Amino acid sequence: MTRQPALFVSHGAPTFAVEPGRAGGLLRAVGERWRPQAVVVVSPHWVTRDLAVTAAAHPRTIHDFGGFPPALYELRYPAPGAPALARAIAERFAAAGMPVREDADRGLDHGAWVPLMHLFPDAGIPVLQLSMPVALDPRGAWRLGEMLAPLRAEGVMIVGSGSLTHNLGEVFSGSVPAPDGYARAFVEWARQAVLRHDREALLDYLRAAPHGRRAHPTADHYLPLLVAAAAAGEDAAVEVLDGGMTFSVLSMESYVFA
Ligand code: ZN
Repeated sequence: MTRQPALFVSHGAPTFAVEPGRAGGLLRAVGERWRPQAVVVVSPHWVTRDLAVTAAAHPRTIHDFGGFPPALYELRYPAPGAPALARAIAERFAAAGMPVREDADRGLDHGAWVPLMHLFPDAGIPVLQLSMPVALDPRGAWRLGEMLAPLRAEGVMIVGSGSLTHNLGEVFSGSVPAPDGYARAFVEWARQAVLRHDREALLDYLRAAPHGRRAHPTADHYLPLLVAAAAAGEDAAVEVLDGGMTFSVLSMESYVFA
């Protein structure tokens, strides 16, 4: 069985589903190189009180966004679920003192299905999601990644889906003084920290990075990067997918840790 990579994916705006651009093409190329047995996605669009995993055999496509073109609401990503893998994950986490609730009703949120449409457009690979507990912090996210890491050797791809920069206030205001200067500075910092496997810097990004607080007014879209980096381990080769910047300040940069 081929050991699968861990990915950090910037999932952009929901319109990324129909406007793949450079970032979509880069993800598609990754999906053409890897064929995992299953994919586990951690997305900030599924936040729960406690840790949960999707356990539906056929998870529905959740259109968890408002005010976008009607065509986006008609998109479906009909990948099968992976209830047996969900059970195995729950057992593994429980054995480590981390109870996981199996949720047979929950579908896939857009943080999962939008990038998966580009990675695996045939929707033929089983997908499940692990939730982000509402109290998750950087060290907790790292721990989640470490817990998921062994699955890679069992043919499971781990995807942390977030956004390398995520100041939606600036995205929607449309009047950013220095269009993308600070966002690019943050992206450059993050890229270098990822490339040198600098765990402490990544964990301490609010102090270590330029404009950490501005790039991430809340941590939710940053934490999936820590999940992926931890699932990767220090020996992983890092591939940068330079998807550029959308809306002046919303980075589409992603990483493959193989
Ligand atoms: Zn998002």
